[in-house]
This record gives sequence, structure tokens and C-alpha cells, in this order.
Amino acid sequence: MPFSHFNLSSSLKHKIQVKNFTKPTPIQEKVIPLVLEKKDLMAKAQTGSGKSASFILPIVNMLANDEKEGKAKIRALVLTPTRELTSQVAQDFEYFLPKRLKVVSIIGGEQLGAQMTAIQKGCDVVVATSGRLLEIIRKDQINFSRIEFFVLDEADKMLDLGFAEELELLLKEMPSQRQNLMFSATYPPKVLNYTSAISSTALEVGVDNEEATVQSITQRVIEVNSENRGPLLRHLIETQKYEQTLVFMGSKRAAHNIATKFRKYGFKAEAFHSDLDQEERNFTLKLFKDNKVKILFATDIAARGLDIDGISCVINFDLPRSPNDYIHRIGRTGRAGRDGLAISFIDHESQEHFKLIEKRSNIKLERESIKGFELQGQAPLKAKGPAPVKGKKKSKKDKLREQALKDNK
Ligand code: AMP
Repeated sequence: MPFSHFNLSSSLKHKIQVKNFTKPTPIQEKVIPLVLEKKDLMAKAQTGSGKSASFILPIVNMLANDEKEGKAKIRALVLTPTRELTSQVAQDFEYFLPKRLKVVSIIGGEQLGAQMTAIQKGCDVVVATSGRLLEIIRKDQINFSRIEFFVLDEADKMLDLGFAEELELLLKEMPSQRQNLMFSATYPPKVLNYTSAISSTALEVGVDNEEATVQSITQRVIEVNSENRGPLLRHLIETQKYEQTLVFMGSKRAAHNIATKFRKYGFKAEAFHSDLDQEERNFTLKLFKDNKVKILFATDIAARGLDIDGISCVINFDLPRSPNDYIHRIGRTGRAGRDGLAISFIDHESQEHFKLIEKRSNIKLERESIKGFELQGQAPLKAKGPAPVKGKKKSKKDKLREQALKDNK
């Protein structure tokens, strides 16, 4: 189905064409018409699926079709879990909105004063991370009484970040008559608790092939001893000629140290983590986007939302903690239908953890080894026999048995 099937303005269709979106992605096919029909939605969508445009396009269409007189009032609020995703969504709104409609992004790490001034001047759309937004709400410096569209992007991640406690305060600020659009890669019960507080009528939307994004990514797993991961990474980058590589590290310190080491070897490498201030983060990302940095060693703050075209390879130098993070990490490559490659390094200790990731992600990957870097040594011995019973909760049956014994004494 082409974009021309949607009831979008000709100016929007032109901008879509200029952006080179030839046809809607599966999630856009489903979501755009429903948003235009003013439905509340709970969409299951991975990053990289084109989900941002699936809400931006219809919202822009409706805002532009129904312009209000006088000073601009905030009519759409989008919350995202990271500063980077907020900036990207705000940039996309800016691109698609007619010039006279304004978008403001509100994120921590940048000057509060400038953001408040921008809001006070009047704007139509606010894209925000929740921490900074609540700071402004508490100062009573923002008015959400005219909100028509509320978007919660990457709801599962927002709730992981402790946003749940703040949601109640935010809901009080908005009119109850509004359209709610919620996006999340997963909907475990804790997320459903909050989505139902936001809307009780939201339609569930998913794409038949939910794994579409992930399927355009070749996933590999390589066994290697922990101390050989650095040399193996060098070897792979040198021999496979990956254009741009995003390497996930387990800690900020590890990201910093390995980036320094790789620069010494002559690679164009940088670290990306939350200890960098916002200006440094923006600068590093720009270098990576412009292909001036080839290897980015990042912690999980880069796993979500980063929209960098052309990441040819994602490496899990350290495995992510959760299967969910695994999907988000690898989703940084193979964006919008392009091919991508994701490689995970595992050793004896991380075998079990990787098996769990495979099970939850419904994948089964063949273990590979690379000549010269083969995994040495033995797997640590597993404790044998039944699990220790100390502290084990008694089952109902146990209790009945004990009671019966007592009664028979
Ligand atoms: P998202 O999942 O929203 O982060 O989008 C991932 C990437 O896909 C972004 O670079 C978008 O600009 C791009 N994109 C979104 N929709 C389309 C489309 N219909 N065709 C091609 N690329 C798209």
C-alpha cells in the first residue's frame, strides 16, 4: 500500500516523498489510519520499525487541519525515555510540521531557562523526557489543559526508569478528553497496569510479523575468552571492514577504557555513556553520524531510540542484562528494512545467560569460533543435586503431611 492511500495532506505527502519514504512500514500501515480515526492505541512496535513516523504523520496532519486562533497552546505531548530519542522525535516533528506550528523539546542536561522561554513563547507540540518535564510542571510553568494528543513512546523503558510514580501527576495536568497513543516493544503486566490508567479503550495493534525488523538482522554468536574479546574485535573490524560499528559495553568505565585503547591502535573510536554531558553526547553522536567516528563504544543508554542510518554492525562485547535490551541493542542496525549484523561475544560464564536471551527472544544461534581466538578452558562446574532446600517455602501438601503426622502422634 502506498502513502497516497492515507488521508494525509498533499504537503505532508510531498515531505514524505522528499524524505525518501517510498512505502509505509508495516506498523505505519496499521497505525496511521487508526490515529486519523481518533482511536486510542497500544501499539507493539520495535525501535527501527518506523514507529515514530506512525504517530508523527497523522498528528501533524490533524494539527495542521485544525489550526487554532491566537497564541499557540500545547496540543500534543510526546514522552520518550531518552534525551536522544526526544531530540530525534522533535526533529522529525519539526520537519513535517508546517513552519507556523512550533515544537519544543524538553530534556535534562541542557539549560532549563532556554526551554522555559521557548514554552512561554508558545508552541504546539512538546517532546520531552519525564524528569525535566516534571521539574517544569512543579514550577507551574507549563499548561497542558489543551492537550489533544498524548504519546507515550517506549512505554516499557519509561516504566523501567521509574516514570510510573510521576505518571499520576502528569495525568492530572491533562484534560481527560484526549487521544492516547502508546508504543512499547513489550507489554508485560507492569506496563499494562499503567497503559490502562492512561486509557481503558486503547486498541491493541501489532504487526503480523512483529520480528520484521529483527529478521533483517543477521545474528551471530562467537565464543571467546573474556580477555580475548578486545583482540578479537580488532581482528573482526580489520578483516571484515565493517563501516560503522556500535559496540555495547557493560559499564561506562569499560566503554571509556576500550575507546582510549582503540584510539591508541589508530582506530577512530569514541565512548558514549551517561557520564558525558549533553553537549559531549551530541558532539560524539554527530561525529558517528557523519562517519568521522567509526567505532562507538556505548553503554545501554545508546540502545534505545538512537536513529543512526548505516550502522553496519552491532557488537555485544558484554551481554545485555535482559532479553528485551538485546532486541533493542540489535535494533540499532538493520534500520527500516536495511540489512544489519549483530554479533554477541560469549564465554563459559555467559553461556547460560545467553541461552536465556535466546529462549525469550525465540532464537537459536549456532556458536561460532574464530581461528586464533577459540574459547579455552572448562566451563565452571555446576552444583549437582537438587536445589538447596534452606528457606524453601512449604507447599500446601507438605503442610498437610506435617499436620497429618502430628495428628497421628
Ligand atoms: P523509528 O522506528 O521510528 O526509529 O524509525 C527508524 C528509521 O526508519 C528512521 O530513520 C526513519 O526515518 C526511517 N523510516 C520511517 N518510516 C520509513 C518509511 N516508510 N520508509 C523508509 N524509512 C522510514
